[in-house]
Amino acid sequence: MTPTEPKIELDALYQEVIRDHCKDPRNYGRLENPDAQAEGYNPLCGDQVSVALQMNGNECIKKICFQSKACSICTASASMMTEEVERMTKTEASQAINSFRELMQGQKDPTEIEGDLQSLAGVRNFPVRIKCALLPWLALRDALEKDEKKA
Ligand code: ZN
Repeated sequence: MTPTEPKIELDALYQEVIRDHCKDPRNYGRLENPDAQAEGYNPLCGDQVSVALQMNGNECIKKICFQSKACSICTASASMMTEEVERMTKTEASQAINSFRELMQGQKDPTEIEGDLQSLAGVRNFPVRIKCALLPWLALRDALEKDEKKA
């Protein structure tokens, strides 16, 4: 049996990280002249998120911004995602998307993920909210695909 108390402390820490990203979302706003953008909508919760990218050549994400009308899980996830993937190559970004999806689907252990994103692992205990957390990542995937087609 694992003692329950450390887990509760961990959850409180996670909540704090999520709250911080919600209150002060990183890379929030409109991006001038984006190379690609995509929207996501989650009817279960009413989350709306849009993700815009500026690419460095065709290789790497120079700048990423998002805007959302969404619950705290979705907004926090989007904020953390922009921090995570900025300056990544397309391949790295795709890997990050897959990796986060595996985390949400329980195929990956939270310890395999670095940084603030770990805090979203608790969302797995609330299946309805998994879609909230994944939404910005799916929008990012769409934006990258659109940029790919354009190239
Ligand atoms: Zn939501």
